[in-house]
Amino acid sequence: MKSLKDNVSVLKGVGPKKQASLSELNINSVFDLLSYYPFRYDDFEVKNINNIVDQEKVTLKGTIASEPTIVHYGRRRNILNIRFLIDNDIVKITFFNQPWLKKQLSVGREVLIYGRFDKNRSSMAGIKILQSNDSNQMSSIYPTNKHVRQSTIKEVVKLAYDEYKNYIVDIIPDSIRLKYRLEDFKTVIHDMHFPKTKKEAILARRTAKFNEFFLFQMRLQNLKSISQNKGLSIKFNQNKVDEFIKTLPFKLTDAQKRVINEIFIDLKSNRQMNRLLQGDVGSGKTIVAVLGIYACIDAGYQAALMAPTEILAEQHANKLAKLFENTSVNVSLLTGNTKLSARKELLPRIKDGEVNLIIGTHALIQDNIEYNNLGLAIIDEQHRFGVNQRKKLRQKGKGTNILAMTATPIPRTLAITSYGEMDVSIIDKLPSGRQPVKTSWIRENQFKSVLPFINDRLSSGEQIYVVTPLVEESEAVDMKNAVNIYENFKDIFEPKYQVGLLHGQMNDDEKNNVMGEFQNNNLQILVSTTVIEVGVDVSNATMMIVFNSDHFGLAQLHQLRGRVGRGNHQSYCLLVADPKTEVGTKRMNVMVDSNNGFIISQKDLELRGPGDVMGKAQSGVPDFKVGDPIADLTMLNIAQQEAIQIVSQKDWKNQYNELFNYVSENNKKFLIN
Ligand code: ADP
Ligand code: MG
Repeated sequence: MKSLKDNVSVLKGVGPKKQASLSELNINSVFDLLSYYPFRYDDFEVKNINNIVDQEKVTLKGTIASEPTIVHYGRRRNILNIRFLIDNDIVKITFFNQPWLKKQLSVGREVLIYGRFDKNRSSMAGIKILQSNDSNQMSSIYPTNKHVRQSTIKEVVKLAYDEYKNYIVDIIPDSIRLKYRLEDFKTVIHDMHFPKTKKEAILARRTAKFNEFFLFQMRLQNLKSISQNKGLSIKFNQNKVDEFIKTLPFKLTDAQKRVINEIFIDLKSNRQMNRLLQGDVGSGKTIVAVLGIYACIDAGYQAALMAPTEILAEQHANKLAKLFENTSVNVSLLTGNTKLSARKELLPRIKDGEVNLIIGTHALIQDNIEYNNLGLAIIDEQHRFGVNQRKKLRQKGKGTNILAMTATPIPRTLAITSYGEMDVSIIDKLPSGRQPVKTSWIRENQFKSVLPFINDRLSSGEQIYVVTPLVEESEAVDMKNAVNIYENFKDIFEPKYQVGLLHGQMNDDEKNNVMGEFQNNNLQILVSTTVIEVGVDVSNATMMIVFNSDHFGLAQLHQLRGRVGRGNHQSYCLLVADPKTEVGTKRMNVMVDSNNGFIISQKDLELRGPGDVMGKAQSGVPDFKVGDPIADLTMLNIAQQEAIQIVSQKDWKNQYNELFNYVSENNKKFLIN
């Protein structure tokens, strides 16, 4: 029994060698081959000479009106000229270095010639002479590599189609196909490879894209519905939470209240919460986490909060210990820095549940840490953690509710693809009274001209961060840059103002020490590598200077900029960069023009593509074959809606059998974080 899963080697003419080279293009099964779509077509349709654009590649049909002449020049070069009669027009056609065509070009013969048309001279650079049936069809052009020729792919695709066309079935429900006027899949495969007209190719591609998006979303939504089955139900006392909210030093914003309610609904239900909390830098995510923690501990469970750096974990522990002072929450800090003796004493207390809030770094997910009953695990700045680390935390409990927080705004495209299995809450408003940070971009040789401005900040008693280039993926090199700039700033500003240095190669005590000095305003200028990127909170700092800022991701620059603008003073961000490309210049201007993290990351995505923005492996955006999740976002949205709708139907697995088989087969391959 034939199946599209058959290996390509079953096709006539595909021997071991061809099979190996096709495999290099990720073509293994017949289905892989049939869905190895052309990336463009040569259009051989005969055109009317009056409708051709200058320099367009077209096919003309006419009669040879003059004996071909050949002129040789140089050693091996020659040109062949003919006059070509099309209705009443004469077009001069020149073929370069194809003298053998002469035989086919006898006077009076009617032929089809494909070439590039020059409108002004009414001439054409001939490319080839077509056979009469070529013009009925567009010619597919496939991506190839060194070992596989264009003609080979064409051949095997044709073979595969002829032998397997009756095995191509539709897995998209008919109702959806009718609703969006999609073609059946057999037609799609045919017209993608062998279209007769441009229109056919476009229609086929439209359906192919929808298929791809829809099936992807079906897998996501199915996973989501599976993972929602089991979870701890956190039954907390709402009145107590309300009382606790009254003790907070500020009033919650409406946006905060909304996401807190979303989280509470998840916590109470017996589905496992799997929620991503997005909120721009400074939007107040921490307090949302605090309330989740409070509710969870009130219900008798433990909670954990994991942060990407020691500095941030410690800052959280201090802040939360203060907020929870008169409650039953019992905070402890666990990082790589925790002394062995303290650790030894702490672990059993975590295991027996005496400690109910554990704050820390990666130390929280080490194998020998056992929790008593982890009800809620929160990951701060979750984009800084790898997939496996997030998974490990999740596995520390049974049915543990997960809240992942990020200030790296995830553009819709990524939210809907890589994070599609999570629910998303968004804090879309900053607490009132914040003034937007004023951002400017200067070239490196203009830096001297801003020194007076920097002096003004310092003499007003404000503090300054200076972030130094991330030139290479090497801590050592970054540090050298930081040290150079640190020395320069010392020369300029000391002894009047004190300059400190912070970099990734310092040990944790040293780092905390410098950070503390800056926090207490014993240092006015802090020169640092990107270790200060996330979290740190010094409200007297009003200026962020970033050198070589074109080397950073825009989301990262936005994070850095978020270190200032936290107090009542007007704050400033100064980007120093000499971008080498047009895209680089555009990116700097995006930062100057926008203070909105969502807009910034969407722009960055458009300018650089998902792989570069999130890191190739991190982006999680699948390699769609035809769909472009950025350009075709609307279609992706529709496909998602339809998939959600189907999965919500109780008996969809019986009703759409083909679809269910497809989804369950592909589930295993599908990565979930
Ligand atoms: P992020 O979302 O970047 O983690 P934080 O939670 O650190 O932001 O909050 C930024 C600052 O805003 C903190 O100093 C916090 O105390 C303050 N803050 C949070 N919510 C409010 C609010 N509703 N009103 C006023 N200030 C707030
Ligand atoms: Mg934060």
